Amino acid sequence: MAQPPAPRREAPLVPCPICRKPAAEAFAPFCSQRCADVDLGRWLGERYVLPGQDADGDEERDEDGSH
Ligand SMILES: [Zn+2]
Repeated sequence: MAQPPAPRREAPLVPCPICRKPAAEAFAPFCSQRCADVDLGRWLGERYVLPGQDADGDEERDEDGSH
């Protein structure tokens, strides 16, 4: 049976979600430690943003009409 050439064991071809550069094996799925930190910051940042957005949406919902 003929076998196809085995794929190389490298990081998956997924672009860095932060800057869209090819991800580095050491920092997968990111391209660098910096982008990994940025992603972590986004997660932490969203937690802070959520309460503010919630209050804003609540105001709109009130106007929309549970009147
Ligand atoms: Zn990146």
